[in-house]
Amino acid sequence: MHYYSTRDRTRPVSFREAALSGLAPEGGLFIPEEIPEYRKAVKHSLDSMSFQDTAFQTILPYVEGDVPPSVLEEISAGAFSFPAPLVPVIFEGPLVLELFHGPTAAFKDFGARFMARIFSYLRRGEDRPLRILTATSGDTGGAVADGFFGVEGIFVTILYPKGRVSELQEKQIAGLGGNISALAVEGSFDDCQALVKAAFGDPALRKKLVLSSANSINISRLLPQAVYYAAAAGKALGGRIDGDGEATPRNRGAGFSGPPRFRPGGGTGTAAGAIFCVPSGNFGNLTAGLYAMSMGAPIAGFIAATNINKTVPDYLESGEYQTRLSRPTISNAMDVGAPSNFERMSAHWTYRDLSRMIRGVWVTDDETRRTIGTVYQDHGYYLDPHGAVAWTAVQKLRQGAAEAAAAPAAPVGPVGPVGPVAVLATAHPAKFSETVEPLTGPVPVPGSIQKALDRTARALTIPADLSALRDFLLSPASAS
Ligand SMILES: *Cc1c(COP(=O)(O)O)cnc(C)c1O
Repeated sequence: MHYYSTRDRTRPVSFREAALSGLAPEGGLFIPEEIPEYRKAVKHSLDSMSFQDTAFQTILPYVEGDVPPSVLEEISAGAFSFPAPLVPVIFEGPLVLELFHGPTAAFKDFGARFMARIFSYLRRGEDRPLRILTATSGDTGGAVADGFFGVEGIFVTILYPKGRVSELQEKQIAGLGGNISALAVEGSFDDCQALVKAAFGDPALRKKLVLSSANSINISRLLPQAVYYAAAAGKALGGRIDGDGEATPRNRGAGFSGPPRFRPGGGTGTAAGAIFCVPSGNFGNLTAGLYAMSMGAPIAGFIAATNINKTVPDYLESGEYQTRLSRPTISNAMDVGAPSNFERMSAHWTYRDLSRMIRGVWVTDDETRRTIGTVYQDHGYYLDPHGAVAWTAVQKLRQGAAEAAAAPAAPVGPVGPVGPVAVLATAHPAKFSETVEPLTGPVPVPGSIQKALDRTARALTIPADLSALRDFLLSPASAS
């Protein structure tokens, strides 16, 4: 498979180059030259395949030529070593696709763990170590640290704003040691990002080190996220939902009998595919869902759920794309005013395509809090603020659809006849206990989070200037 930059369709590159360089030289994002389709036999057995097999079938065409099938199999087995259960929470309510059972209790584990293993393979046999530099506002750093921890030949430096991440996040970033170094920068997240950018442009560093980044626009972080959509869509339609739920106690609504059906646009007809409601910030997760849908997974469409940073919902409604400054909310991993993956979405699909496949809904903090409280009180299920945004979006659409159905000549929405709806729960509620616990009482802490809390954060504090970062990167401490 060849890849192109969203800004330059003249220069094809390999998967290897697209993954290891992250961003194209002129600043574009890498996209595959085409989105492959599942073979018929695969499409028809998605509902009964194991997660590992779905991963293999989904990712192989994108890496063919650079990664042999047997290696991909091994990498997938190592990366996706935790479950992604699709759980029924309440009778006639949405299903919840729990993506927080990985080591840092957020869905970013899927991308980071896969990327780390793919990088390690792609860099095999090189004698100079790869140096990865990443700025984080909190969540990404932990997943990257954990994903790359112990990977041979790769040293990671993570920059985070000192004093502005939670205790848990700091321990996830700075508690591992080994090949992961943490720098607490005296400044903001924007300062951290600017420092990383400056380091990539610094001639002294470029001459001495092989630098790469691990940020969310990397294609190797996106591809593994297509897997859980394909796996869950098949299961939802086949009625194979999971009853297990060790991490989040719930009482199943009385009389639960299979996945609910729901037509957000008020349309009628037979079920064609699952609908996923995706709590979105940079829109990498939703873009991965669009890949799965285009490959032929049984998906009818998406709901893009955002907080008040509603750049994409506004675009879907008006056709005009207008980025803005981000505003802080309680679902802070989604506080993005200029979603980086929008460039990728609009390189693959027109506005017409996108507005047919996706419904945008935005949600306020008050609505999100109300959802966390009522879903817990009524059903004993803990939602984190990001999953709660998605849950609220489904409710808002359902209300809208009910009202539209009551009205004469109800308009049929862009999403056609559909089957079950699944809300993506992108983080474990215990990761956001400051927000969740006042609404629900104590949230049970899963083993992965307890393990991180038991660590000691060891970070080096540096001022927000390039010379301090350069000194660190050129010192033996950064690569040992
Ligand atoms: C990163 C993140 C999101 C947003 O995902 P995007 O791919 O940036 O849209 C949502 N929820 C949580 C918990 C996250 O960490």
